[in-house]
Amino acid sequence: MDLLLISILNSVINAEIEFDMKEFTIKEIQDQVDELIQTLNGYWPPLAMLASVTEELGELAREINALEKIKVKKKSEIEKNIGEELADLFFSILCISNHYKIDLNSEFQQVLDKYQKRDKNRFLN
Ligand SMILES: [Mg+2]
Repeated sequence: MDLLLISILNSVINAEIEFDMKEFTIKEIQDQVDELIQTLNGYWPPLAMLASVTEELGELAREINALEKIKVKKKSEIEKNIGEELADLFFSILCISNHYKIDLNSEFQQVLDKYQKRDKNRFLN
């Protein structure tokens, strides 16, 4: 993990302490990420952010592989958890969304609608 990402994660962790543990809308989360990123010299170039998504996806895969005992971790590897890696991945996705000014709330509603219609009878036996 590079130093900038560690710095961002530390800022997120410290920022969490300042907030109440309330539930946020996707818009509020996008706004919080944007505020944080603005304090950290702005967003990375899009392809660097995409690389971060793939890095975090790989870390998530590593954790699931370890949890499911498919590929046991080396003793030297840091213990993490799936929730942390999902949050890292979500953070990286939010950065790309914010960079392109995408309203993820709206997009997510459309995705739910799409799956509900398309897969309405797909998994019924
Ligand atoms: Mg990670």
